[in-house]
Amino acid sequence: MRAVRVSEPGGSEVLEVVDTDAPVPGPGEVLVEVAAAGVNFIDTYQREGIYPMETPYVAGLEGAGRVTALGADVDGVAVGDRIAWANTLGSYAEQVAVPWAKAVPVPEGVADDVAVGAALQGMTAHFLVNDCFPLHGGETILLHAAAGGVGLLLTQLAVAKGARVIATTSTPEKAELARGAGAAEVIDYTAVDDLAAAVRDLTGGAGVDAAFDSVGRSTFDASLASVRPRGTLVLYGAASGPVEPFDPQRLNAAGSLYLTRPKLFDYIATTDELRTRAAAVYGDVAAGRLDVRIGHRYDLADARTAHDDLQGRRTTGKVLLVP
Ligand code: NDP
Repeated sequence: MRAVRVSEPGGSEVLEVVDTDAPVPGPGEVLVEVAAAGVNFIDTYQREGIYPMETPYVAGLEGAGRVTALGADVDGVAVGDRIAWANTLGSYAEQVAVPWAKAVPVPEGVADDVAVGAALQGMTAHFLVNDCFPLHGGETILLHAAAGGVGLLLTQLAVAKGARVIATTSTPEKAELARGAGAAEVIDYTAVDDLAAAVRDLTGGAGVDAAFDSVGRSTFDASLASVRPRGTLVLYGAASGPVEPFDPQRLNAAGSLYLTRPKLFDYIATTDELRTRAAAVYGDVAAGRLDVRIGHRYDLADARTAHDDLQGRRTTGKVLLVP
């Protein structure tokens, strides 16, 4: 089968399409024929070595497809079932062995590519607004990269919970997508000199209740300066690079702020929590309450281009690799 292998940390050139043996499902695992693999920013952190990886490895954590074989000791799933997953390395491939405990069933009415789009990024948006900084309605929040994979879903879920969303994007086209997802205000953060001042202007000087920052290095200071006293900064990504070491006294000076740096995998830590969260997201999708925008489909062989486009800010919505 074809797979995309990484043999050493580096730029997108280390993504190599290879012919390799299909995996054999071990105990607790199911073999899946991959319909689509998800491209996520974390794949680039792993490829670059920001998250250290043992090499060689087949890239990709996310996908959806049909079960073709069962390993030993697998209950509750059958050959032919459609499943999705968000945390199994080796997903940029035609076939992958997925631990059944880390997979979720895909309901009727949710297509394979949509199931991928709603998996890692959908569950991220879900834990951010339900568990990390629970929104109850009436909050004003700042949300960066709103036309991205997570951003479009997070905007929709936040608006559905009654929050007023101030979004940032880098182009007029992306701003339009953010508005379509429900953002009340959109700032082009590449065009303003003082992002925090722009956010203050839109909140009558008060600042936002929470800032959801996935951009990291280039936005962190402005995010901090945009949050009202006793508000929360949720730093959940580093698309522009990791944030510099940070003096906690700055939280005091900015008004007794809270700072959290969460990751999805701690919010789907048990199979029960994973399946409950996935079912909630897929339920919203199937009911038409959550629109999953598939922005780009690339052939598996074009994984390098997919990474370059994602890191080069040329994508919107979900990016897929199709075997
Ligand atoms: P996106 O589709 O959001 O792509 C990243 C976007 O970030 C770009 O499109 C761009 O939007 C914006 N951006 C701003 N500055 C830069 C820069 N210097 N280089 C590249 N992009 C930049 O990606 P994902 O939806 O896959 O992920 C979004 C973020 O969420 C990532 O940081 C990721 O690590 C994080 N994440 C965190 C999770 C967690 O559990 N903590 C789980 C999932 C994702 P624009 O052009 O509008 O500025």
